Amino acid sequence: MEVIIKRSKRRKKTIQARMIQGKMEVLAPAHISDGVLQDHISRLKARMAEREYPRSDEHLQARASLLNQKYFCGTLNWNSICYSPRQEHRRGSCSVNARTIRISERLAKYPQWVEDYVIVHELAHLLEPNHGKEFKALVRQYPLAERAIGFLMATEALDRRPS
Ligand SMILES: [Zn+2]
Repeated sequence: MEVIIKRSKRRKKTIQARMIQGKMEVLAPAHISDGVLQDHISRLKARMAEREYPRSDEHLQARASLLNQKYFCGTLNWNSICYSPRQEHRRGSCSVNARTIRISERLAKYPQWVEDYVIVHELAHLLEPNHGKEFKALVRQYPLAERAIGFLMATEALDRRPS
C-alpha cells in the first residue's frame, strides 16, 4: 500500500490517516520523529488490512448457520463452506452430492448483506439444484435478494472493465 506523508506545522499532536484512491494519506505534525511515525503507520496498515479482510472460512460457517436458522428453519446441513480463489467468474458454487459450498474470495470484500445473499443462494441449492420457480421462492425469503443481485451486477460490470 502506498503511503503519502504530509507533515504540517499547524498540526499539533494528532496523526490522522485517510484512504484516497487506494493510497493512504497520513497527516502528521511537523515535529514528530520518523521512528514514531513509521510505528504509527504500521499499526494503521494492520488495522486497515483487518478491516478489509476480516472474513475467514469460520466467518462463512457462522453466517451460513445464522442464515440457515433465519430462512430455512435450521433444516439444512452441509459438510463444508469455504472461500475459493478459483471462482473468478462465479459468485459461488454448491455441490449437492458432496454437500459442499464454495464462495468466491472476492465476495469477502463486498458488504455483508451482499455476501449473505450469495450464501442464501448456495444454501437454497441444497434443496433445489436448478434455478426454477421453487428455487427463486426460497431465495426471495432473504429480503435483500433483489438489491444484492443489482449490487453484484453493477460491481461485476465495473470489475470486468479493462483498466
Ligand atoms: Zn445458482
